[in-house]
Amino acid sequence: MQQVRPAAPQLEGVEPYDPKYIPAEVMISANENPRDVDLEIRREVEHAVRKVSLNRYPDPLANDLRDKIAEANGLDRDQVLLGNGGDELLFDFALAWGGPGRKFLNVPPTFSVYAYNALLTNTEVVEVPRRSDYSVDVDAVCERLAQGDIDFAIITSPNNPTGNLLTGGEVERILDASDALVMIDEAYFEFSRFTVRPSLEKHENLIILRTFSKAFSLAGVRIGYVLGSARVLDEFKKVRLPYSVDAVSQAIAGVIYEHRAQFEKGVDEIVAERERVIEALNAMDGVQAFPSSANYVLFRLDAARGIDGGDVWQRLLDAGVLVRDFSRTPRLENCLRVSIGSPEENTRFLEALNGILA
Ligand SMILES: *Cc1c(COP(=O)(O)O)cnc(C)c1O
Repeated sequence: MQQVRPAAPQLEGVEPYDPKYIPAEVMISANENPRDVDLEIRREVEHAVRKVSLNRYPDPLANDLRDKIAEANGLDRDQVLLGNGGDELLFDFALAWGGPGRKFLNVPPTFSVYAYNALLTNTEVVEVPRRSDYSVDVDAVCERLAQGDIDFAIITSPNNPTGNLLTGGEVERILDASDALVMIDEAYFEFSRFTVRPSLEKHENLIILRTFSKAFSLAGVRIGYVLGSARVLDEFKKVRLPYSVDAVSQAIAGVIYEHRAQFEKGVDEIVAERERVIEALNAMDGVQAFPSSANYVLFRLDAARGIDGGDVWQRLLDAGVLVRDFSRTPRLENCLRVSIGSPEENTRFLEALNGILA
């Protein structure tokens, strides 16, 4: 049998991304919206999908949807770019701004995909860790950027998995610190109701990432977008896969975006439930919940009392509740993250955890 030569050296020893998305009765591990799209909107989605020509290539730039998003954000079409989920745009970012000899500033603990993309593209990762309450050390980030050798940075706000939000003033300071291209990942901005969109006016080095996967109940469809300067997005266009946003997804997302105001009620409920979950977690002995501006809550189990996060994760799963295990992740020791589900799901989670800790 002819042997095959090794894959690219940066892949050696790498584990493929595995979100541990195990079937369970209560799926509250992936920050999805617990409500699927309303029946009424689904009917319009079906109608729109029926009209799609399946034999034709899609519009590569999804211009109809781009125009809708541009208009809603007070921008021009060329300041918006769609991707196959936010994840594709994150990969494009590493391809366009990273590479051998280039540097990416990361602010851990945060979304693991950023560092993974840097590894795939042979980009050096420079870390400026968050403080112990997981807030961004803005002074340290600015100082590091001011050295002038960083090519791009990503800061998640609200941060996944810790829930922290940056202020507009903090983001402006970071943008003014250097000419590095800074992405603010606003995947959860519909829950924080705060955006750095106004800073685009005076900062060509700002790019904002958003997604349809969270507030808009569309994780199964794969649509994300970036807002930025036309000059920056032209570079993204050079690396993106031309037909990554398929015609069916474009049609579905167009309908959803037109009805986006109807998702507000669900967002309100999630925000209210989030506060209830945080309060209930903090009332439990041996549990510390962190404040959150998103649709999930990070909580730490007290190792000093012999409570092991990985063990609790498994016992929750045994009770039919899937949450996300970060207990072995650096800086998130003994932490789990729970997405806010329906009120019934949240209650079931809290009862299961109470039972485990009792
Ligand atoms: C979910 C998420 C995204 C994008 O997800 P997609 O489903 O690929 O659009 C981006 N950033 C963060 C921090 C996320 O949590």
